[in-house]
Amino acid sequence: MICNLCPRDCHAVRTPDSGGGVCGMPSAAVVAKSMLHRWEEPCLTGEHGAGAVFFAGCSLQCNYCQNRVISRPDAARCQTVDVAGLRETFRNLIRRGAACLDLVTPTHFVHVVREALRGEQYPVPVVWNSGGYEKPDTLRTLDGLVQIYMPDLKYALPEPAQAYSGAADYFRWAAAAIPEMFRQTGRYRMENGQLLSGVLIRHLILPGEMENTRRVIDWVSRTFRPGDVLFSLMRQYTPQPGATGRLARRVTGAEYRAAVAYMRNCGITDGYTQDAASAVSDYTPDF
Ligand code: SF4
Repeated sequence: MICNLCPRDCHAVRTPDSGGGVCGMPSAAVVAKSMLHRWEEPCLTGEHGAGAVFFAGCSLQCNYCQNRVISRPDAARCQTVDVAGLRETFRNLIRRGAACLDLVTPTHFVHVVREALRGEQYPVPVVWNSGGYEKPDTLRTLDGLVQIYMPDLKYALPEPAQAYSGAADYFRWAAAAIPEMFRQTGRYRMENGQLLSGVLIRHLILPGEMENTRRVIDWVSRTFRPGDVLFSLMRQYTPQPGATGRLARRVTGAEYRAAVAYMRNCGITDGYTQDAASAVSDYTPDF
Protein backbone atom coordinates (compact mmCIF):
# COMPACT_ATOMS: atom_id res chain seq x y z
CA MET A 1 0.00 0.00 0.00
CA ILE A 2 1.01 3.63 -0.56
CA CYS A 3 0.34 5.14 2.85
CA ASN A 4 -1.28 8.48 3.60
CA LEU A 5 -3.31 7.28 6.56
CA CYS A 6 -2.17 9.96 8.98
CA PRO A 7 -1.18 13.64 8.72
CA ARG A 8 2.44 12.72 8.01
CA ASP A 9 1.32 11.98 4.43
CA CYS A 10 4.44 9.91 3.81
CA HIS A 11 3.34 8.35 0.50
CA ALA A 12 5.48 5.47 1.76
CA VAL A 13 5.28 2.01 0.28
CA ARG A 14 4.25 -0.34 3.08
CA THR A 15 4.38 -4.06 2.39
CA PRO A 16 3.42 -6.87 4.81
CA ASP A 17 7.10 -7.11 5.76
CA SER A 18 8.47 -3.58 5.61
CA GLY A 19 7.57 0.05 6.04
CA GLY A 20 9.30 3.24 5.03
CA GLY A 21 7.25 6.02 6.57
CA VAL A 22 7.63 7.95 9.80
CA CYS A 23 5.91 5.19 11.77
CA GLY A 24 8.25 2.65 10.20
CA MET A 25 5.63 -0.06 10.29
CA PRO A 26 4.74 -2.64 7.63
CA SER A 27 1.19 -2.93 6.32
CA ALA A 28 0.61 -6.05 8.47
CA ALA A 29 -0.45 -5.20 12.03
CA VAL A 30 2.31 -5.55 14.61
CA VAL A 31 1.23 -6.18 18.20
CA ALA A 32 3.80 -5.57 20.92
CA LYS A 33 1.73 -6.82 23.82
CA SER A 34 -1.82 -7.61 24.88
CA MET A 35 -2.72 -7.58 28.55
CA LEU A 36 -5.28 -6.67 31.18
CA HIS A 37 -4.25 -3.14 32.04
CA ARG A 38 -5.35 -1.65 35.37
CA TRP A 39 -3.83 1.81 35.03
CA GLU A 40 -6.22 3.38 32.56
CA GLU A 41 -8.93 5.74 33.85
CA PRO A 42 -11.31 3.95 36.28
CA CYS A 43 -14.24 4.18 33.86
CA LEU A 44 -12.37 1.79 31.52
CA THR A 45 -10.91 -0.79 33.84
CA GLY A 46 -13.87 -2.47 35.58
CA GLU A 47 -12.97 -5.31 37.93
CA HIS A 48 -10.17 -6.95 35.93
CA GLY A 49 -8.70 -4.17 33.80
CA ALA A 50 -8.92 -2.80 30.29
CA GLY A 51 -8.11 -5.30 27.54
CA ALA A 52 -5.13 -3.42 26.15
CA VAL A 53 -3.64 -4.22 22.76
CA PHE A 54 -0.42 -2.26 22.31
CA PHE A 55 0.43 -1.77 18.67
CA ALA A 56 4.05 -1.27 17.69
CA GLY A 57 5.22 1.91 15.98
CA CYS A 58 3.77 5.41 16.08
CA SER A 59 3.39 8.24 13.61
CA LEU A 60 4.29 10.90 16.20
CA GLN A 61 7.64 9.69 17.56
CA CYS A 62 7.60 12.08 20.55
CA ASN A 63 11.07 12.39 22.04
CA TYR A 64 9.69 11.84 25.58
CA CYS A 65 7.68 8.72 24.72
CA GLN A 66 7.16 6.43 27.70
CA ASN A 67 6.56 3.44 25.42
CA ARG A 68 9.64 3.96 23.29
CA VAL A 69 10.63 0.29 23.41
CA ILE A 70 7.66 -0.45 21.17
CA SER A 71 6.93 2.88 19.49
CA ARG A 72 10.20 3.31 17.61
CA PRO A 73 10.37 2.08 14.01
CA ASP A 74 12.82 -0.67 14.99
CA ALA A 75 10.47 -2.27 17.55
CA ALA A 76 11.82 -5.68 16.72
CA ARG A 77 10.50 -8.00 19.41
CA CYS A 78 6.90 -7.63 18.28
CA GLN A 79 4.58 -10.05 16.55
CA THR A 80 2.78 -9.62 13.25
CA VAL A 81 -0.91 -10.59 13.32
CA ASP A 82 -3.51 -10.87 10.60
CA VAL A 83 -7.21 -10.02 10.95
CA ALA A 84 -8.07 -13.47 12.33
CA GLY A 85 -5.22 -13.23 14.83
CA LEU A 86 -6.34 -9.83 15.97
CA ARG A 87 -9.89 -11.08 16.50
CA GLU A 88 -8.51 -13.98 18.53
CA THR A 89 -6.47 -11.53 20.64
CA PHE A 90 -9.65 -9.53 21.31
CA ARG A 91 -11.62 -12.65 22.27
CA ASN A 92 -8.87 -13.82 24.59
CA LEU A 93 -8.90 -10.54 26.48
CA ILE A 94 -12.69 -10.66 26.77
CA ARG A 95 -12.55 -14.24 28.08
CA ARG A 96 -10.13 -13.03 30.78
CA GLY A 97 -12.60 -10.38 31.91
CA ALA A 98 -11.53 -7.27 30.02
CA ALA A 99 -13.86 -4.34 30.64
CA CYS A 100 -13.17 -2.94 27.17
CA LEU A 101 -10.94 -3.47 24.14
CA ASP A 102 -8.33 -0.76 24.56
CA LEU A 103 -6.55 -0.33 21.21
CA VAL A 104 -3.39 1.60 21.98
CA THR A 105 -1.77 3.63 19.16
CA PRO A 106 -3.76 1.93 16.39
CA THR A 107 -3.81 4.76 13.80
CA HIS A 108 -1.19 3.38 11.41
CA PHE A 109 -2.93 -0.03 11.44
CA VAL A 110 -6.46 1.32 10.95
CA HIS A 111 -6.94 -0.77 7.79
CA VAL A 112 -6.36 -4.03 9.73
CA VAL A 113 -8.20 -3.01 12.91
CA ARG A 114 -11.23 -1.93 10.88
CA GLU A 115 -11.48 -5.38 9.30
CA ALA A 116 -11.11 -7.08 12.70
CA LEU A 117 -14.00 -5.01 14.06
CA ARG A 118 -16.28 -5.12 11.02
CA GLY A 119 -19.08 -7.68 11.25
CA GLU A 120 -18.16 -8.68 14.82
CA GLN A 121 -20.21 -8.08 17.95
CA TYR A 122 -17.93 -7.65 20.96
CA PRO A 123 -19.67 -7.53 24.36
CA VAL A 124 -17.47 -4.69 25.63
CA PRO A 125 -16.81 -1.20 24.22
CA VAL A 126 -14.02 -0.72 21.69
CA VAL A 127 -11.68 2.12 22.69
CA TRP A 128 -9.58 3.96 20.12
CA ASN A 129 -6.66 5.12 22.28
CA SER A 130 -4.59 7.39 20.07
CA GLY A 131 -2.16 10.29 20.01
CA GLY A 132 -4.77 12.62 18.54
CA TYR A 133 -2.71 13.27 15.39
CA GLU A 134 -5.24 11.90 12.93
CA LYS A 135 -7.03 12.67 9.71
CA PRO A 136 -10.81 13.07 9.99
CA ASP A 137 -11.15 11.21 6.67
CA THR A 138 -9.38 8.18 8.14
CA LEU A 139 -11.50 8.33 11.30
CA ARG A 140 -14.70 8.40 9.25
CA THR A 141 -13.91 4.86 8.09
CA LEU A 142 -14.39 3.72 11.72
CA ASP A 143 -17.87 5.20 12.07
CA GLY A 144 -20.05 2.67 13.92
CA LEU A 145 -17.13 0.39 14.84
CA VAL A 146 -15.66 2.33 17.79
CA GLN A 147 -17.70 3.19 20.87
CA ILE A 148 -15.11 5.22 22.81
CA TYR A 149 -12.47 7.54 21.45
CA MET A 150 -9.63 8.37 23.84
CA PRO A 151 -7.35 10.79 22.00
CA ASP A 152 -4.47 12.69 23.48
CA LEU A 153 -4.56 16.42 22.99
CA LYS A 154 -0.86 16.94 23.48
CA TYR A 155 -0.32 20.41 22.12
CA ALA A 156 -2.26 23.55 21.29
CA LEU A 157 0.92 25.47 20.46
CA PRO A 158 3.11 24.73 17.42
CA GLU A 159 6.44 25.29 19.20
CA PRO A 160 6.33 22.35 21.62
CA ALA A 161 4.60 20.23 18.98
CA GLN A 162 7.54 20.81 16.65
CA ALA A 163 10.22 20.58 19.33
CA TYR A 164 9.02 17.34 20.91
CA SER A 165 7.17 15.55 18.10
CA GLY A 166 8.35 17.17 14.87
CA ALA A 167 4.70 18.02 14.13
CA ALA A 168 4.10 21.78 14.11
CA ASP A 169 0.70 21.10 12.55
CA TYR A 170 -0.39 18.81 15.41
CA PHE A 171 -3.13 21.07 16.79
CA ARG A 172 -4.67 21.79 13.39
CA TRP A 173 -5.22 18.06 12.89
CA ALA A 174 -6.22 17.21 16.45
CA ALA A 175 -8.71 20.09 16.53
CA ALA A 176 -10.39 18.61 13.45
CA ALA A 177 -10.08 14.95 14.50
CA ILE A 178 -11.62 15.26 17.97
CA PRO A 179 -14.88 16.86 16.74
CA GLU A 180 -15.15 14.02 14.19
CA MET A 181 -14.78 11.53 17.05
CA PHE A 182 -17.51 13.38 18.96
CA ARG A 183 -19.75 13.39 15.89
CA GLN A 184 -19.53 9.60 15.82
CA THR A 185 -20.10 8.89 19.51
CA GLY A 186 -22.22 11.77 20.76
CA ARG A 187 -22.13 12.84 24.41
CA TYR A 188 -20.50 10.39 26.75
CA ARG A 189 -22.61 7.72 28.44
CA MET A 190 -21.74 6.06 31.75
CA GLU A 191 -23.37 3.13 33.53
CA ASN A 192 -22.32 2.00 37.01
CA GLY A 193 -19.10 3.97 36.70
CA GLN A 194 -18.14 2.39 33.36
CA LEU A 195 -17.96 4.37 30.17
CA LEU A 196 -20.18 2.91 27.47
CA SER A 197 -19.54 5.43 24.72
CA GLY A 198 -18.17 8.89 24.13
CA VAL A 199 -14.92 10.82 23.90
CA LEU A 200 -12.32 11.01 26.66
CA ILE A 201 -9.62 13.59 25.90
CA ARG A 202 -6.27 13.17 27.64
CA HIS A 203 -3.69 15.85 28.19
CA LEU A 204 -0.27 15.02 29.61
CA ILE A 205 1.20 18.10 31.26
CA LEU A 206 4.82 18.60 30.23
CA PRO A 207 7.22 20.28 32.68
CA GLY A 208 7.67 23.99 31.97
CA GLU A 209 4.98 23.98 29.24
CA MET A 210 2.12 25.48 31.20
CA GLU A 211 1.07 27.90 28.47
CA ASN A 212 0.54 24.91 26.19
CA THR A 213 -1.60 23.25 28.86
CA ARG A 214 -3.70 26.39 29.34
CA ARG A 215 -4.33 26.66 25.58
CA VAL A 216 -5.39 23.00 25.48
CA ILE A 217 -7.85 23.59 28.33
CA ASP A 218 -9.13 26.75 26.61
CA TRP A 219 -9.88 24.81 23.44
CA VAL A 220 -11.68 21.99 25.24
CA SER A 221 -13.80 24.37 27.30
CA ARG A 222 -14.75 26.46 24.25
CA THR A 223 -15.44 23.53 21.96
CA PHE A 224 -17.55 21.34 24.21
CA ARG A 225 -20.37 21.90 26.69
CA PRO A 226 -20.55 20.27 30.12
CA GLY A 227 -21.61 16.66 29.68
CA ASP A 228 -20.24 16.40 26.12
CA VAL A 229 -16.81 14.85 26.70
CA LEU A 230 -14.58 13.68 29.53
CA PHE A 231 -11.20 15.31 30.12
CA SER A 232 -8.25 13.68 31.85
CA LEU A 233 -5.48 15.96 33.09
CA MET A 234 -2.40 13.78 33.50
CA ARG A 235 0.68 14.44 35.59
CA GLN A 236 2.46 11.13 34.99
CA TYR A 237 5.20 12.56 32.78
CA THR A 238 8.43 10.69 33.57
CA PRO A 239 11.80 11.83 32.18
CA GLN A 240 13.31 9.23 29.88
CA PRO A 241 17.01 8.35 29.97
CA GLY A 242 18.99 11.14 28.28
CA ALA A 243 16.17 13.71 28.61
CA THR A 244 17.51 17.27 28.56
CA GLY A 245 16.25 20.81 29.09
CA ARG A 246 12.66 21.18 30.29
CA LEU A 247 12.00 17.48 29.79
CA ALA A 248 14.66 16.42 32.30
CA ARG A 249 12.39 16.80 35.34
CA ARG A 250 8.94 15.81 36.49
CA VAL A 251 5.93 18.13 36.67
CA THR A 252 5.96 19.91 40.03
CA GLY A 253 3.08 19.91 42.48
CA ALA A 254 2.69 23.67 41.97
CA GLU A 255 2.43 23.25 38.19
CA TYR A 256 -0.16 20.54 38.53
CA ARG A 257 -2.27 22.43 41.07
CA ALA A 258 -2.21 25.51 38.83
CA ALA A 259 -3.38 23.43 35.87
CA VAL A 260 -6.22 21.88 37.88
CA ALA A 261 -7.31 25.32 39.10
CA TYR A 262 -7.22 26.69 35.55
CA MET A 263 -9.28 23.76 34.30
CA ARG A 264 -11.92 24.30 36.99
CA ASN A 265 -12.01 28.05 36.33
CA CYS A 266 -12.73 27.24 32.70
CA GLY A 267 -15.72 25.17 33.79
CA ILE A 268 -14.38 21.68 33.03
CA THR A 269 -15.66 19.32 35.68
CA ASP A 270 -16.30 16.07 33.79
CA GLY A 271 -13.21 13.97 34.04
CA TYR A 272 -10.12 12.98 35.93
CA THR A 273 -7.09 14.34 37.70
CA GLN A 274 -4.12 12.25 38.87
CA ASP A 275 -2.31 12.09 42.18
CA ALA A 276 1.46 12.40 42.47
CA ALA A 277 1.96 8.63 42.77
CA SER A 278 1.14 8.25 39.08
CA ALA A 279 4.47 9.79 38.03
CA VAL A 280 6.48 6.63 38.43
CA SER A 281 7.73 4.27 35.77
CA ASP A 282 5.64 1.39 37.22
CA TYR A 283 2.72 2.87 35.34
CA THR A 284 4.41 2.03 32.06
CA PRO A 285 3.82 -1.65 31.16
CA ASP A 286 6.93 -3.78 30.89
CA PHE A 287 7.33 -4.57 27.21
S1 SF4 B 1 0.66 5.76 8.93
FE1 SF4 B 1 2.93 5.71 8.92
S2 SF4 B 1 3.53 5.54 6.74
FE2 SF4 B 1 1.36 6.13 6.81
S3 SF4 B 1 1.34 8.35 6.59
FE3 SF4 B 1 1.33 7.90 8.81
S4 SF4 B 1 3.49 7.82 9.47
FE4 SF4 B 1 3.44 7.73 7.22
